[in-house]
Amino acid sequence: MDRTEIAIVGAGPAGLSAALEASRAGARVTIIDEYSRPGGQYFKQPPSSFKLLDRSLMGRDYQAGQELLSRISDGNITLMSGTLVWGAFSPDTLELYQEERGECLRLSSDRTIIATGAYDRPIAFPGWTLPGVITAGAAHSLVKSQFVLPGSRVLLAGSGPFQLPVASQLLKGGAQVVAVLEAGRVGGWVTRVPAIWRHLDKVNEAKDYLGAILKARVPYEFGWTVIEARGKDHVEDAVISQLDENYHPISGTERVLQVDTICLGFGFIPSLQLPRLLGCESAYDKGLSAWVTACDENQATSVQGVYVAGETTGIGGHDVAMCEGAVAGLRAASDIGKIGSDEAEDRLSKVRGNLKNHREFSSFLNRTFSLRPGIFELAREDTILCRCEEVTLGEVEGAAMECGGSIRTIKQLTRAGMGPCQGRICGSLVAQVATRISGNSIAEIAPDTPRPPIKPIPLGALAKLAL
Ligand SMILES: Cc1cc2nc3c(=O)[nH]c(=O)nc-3n(C[C@H](O)[C@H](O)[C@H](O)COP(=O)(O)OP(=O)(O)OC[C@H]3O[C@@H](n4cnc5c(N)ncnc54)[C@H](O)[C@@H]3O)c2cc1C
Repeated sequence: MDRTEIAIVGAGPAGLSAALEASRAGARVTIIDEYSRPGGQYFKQPPSSFKLLDRSLMGRDYQAGQELLSRISDGNITLMSGTLVWGAFSPDTLELYQEERGECLRLSSDRTIIATGAYDRPIAFPGWTLPGVITAGAAHSLVKSQFVLPGSRVLLAGSGPFQLPVASQLLKGGAQVVAVLEAGRVGGWVTRVPAIWRHLDKVNEAKDYLGAILKARVPYEFGWTVIEARGKDHVEDAVISQLDENYHPISGTERVLQVDTICLGFGFIPSLQLPRLLGCESAYDKGLSAWVTACDENQATSVQGVYVAGETTGIGGHDVAMCEGAVAGLRAASDIGKIGSDEAEDRLSKVRGNLKNHREFSSFLNRTFSLRPGIFELAREDTILCRCEEVTLGEVEGAAMECGGSIRTIKQLTRAGMGPCQGRICGSLVAQVATRISGNSIAEIAPDTPRPPIKPIPLGALAKLAL
């Protein structure tokens, strides 16, 4: 078993920032990330085999990521890339799988910081499992780090500001963006941006993306979404509809667009698998319509010795993730005696102020683009909700009626959530059905409990660990 003082899961903005602060305080730090290169989603790096001829094409997040990553080469930080944390049975030991060596190993630590980020929120509607229907995050990652376009005639549908950078990056890559559909309405929110002068950088960023979209004459429609994808082996048509206030389609407004790709950008859901596996409490965030890992102002969870930072605690963007990472890194280092509590707080005084500002802006965005019930009711009886186990809406509804809406029993009756994704894709969809059938609010329905391995690993590697 390997040993470190502070183990950090996730080399995104939150994990990297936690590592820098903890190592600056004198702690020996190990960061583990399943991707082959550090940076997470925001600072995503192209594969090391790619030769970059023109760095200026890579955008501002790439440049900022380069600077951050160059500071990581500090002697106190060990980076284990290409390494998945597939389980954790006690707060001081992580179960790892190293892809290149095809081996499982263990890492023990005095403190653990979980910074595993988020994933795209799925929305189910007829045809959503057809090839060509992908998430906006996936499309962005493809263009941003692999320089591959997901298709040539692309429709974006979703809610929230993330659609803008995706559309602008697709245009830059040469795709024809047929339309960007925003489920929300403009309403009066434009004038309610909190203390705009404190968030000018974000407003300017959005302006740049919007400028690119408008310049390319891409229609940007508010109060519209995709309600069906049609095609034989691949998406060929997208049926779109205007939405009422509760995001139910308005009958008679349907239009058909010819596309080969539909990107769904309905926001993100915090990744809770590891914290929940360790028994950390979760809390339901109503504005976000999602469960988050609960933590105190020092990023400490309900489990002694386990901290969380970044989007596992709620969707706040990379600035919030970096501030939370700094807090978690310094408080964990202080916990093991590397730095006094007062000195840690001194170092954090500016960070805490910035964190407050960034959270103010992100909670404004989460409230503004909060999803309404109709968006969760687009699926039909034969629409698949659980892709891994091919379980339909009708089957989930039947099970929910039989058991009164218990997520655990729905899982046992239908196998929804038991496949390789362990409920990451279908969990929130099944929870919506359970609330609709049982009449309980989603906050009353405990989120599903993941089981290890939280992501697939070869059985041979597990078997070797037991020998
Ligand atoms: C697909 C996707 C694309 C996004 N693209 C953008 C973008 O371009 N611009 C933007 O502003 N925001 C983007 N976001 C939002 C983004 O998540 C945040 O802005 C920011 O990156 C959050 O930082 P984080 O450190 O909390 O998480 P992340 O950046 O997501 O980092 C989490 C890291 O944890 C690792 N990890 C997770 N689970 C495990 C495990 N079990 N074992 C080992 N490693 C693990 C992941 O590989 C990842 O590197 C994207 C989100 C997603 C889901």
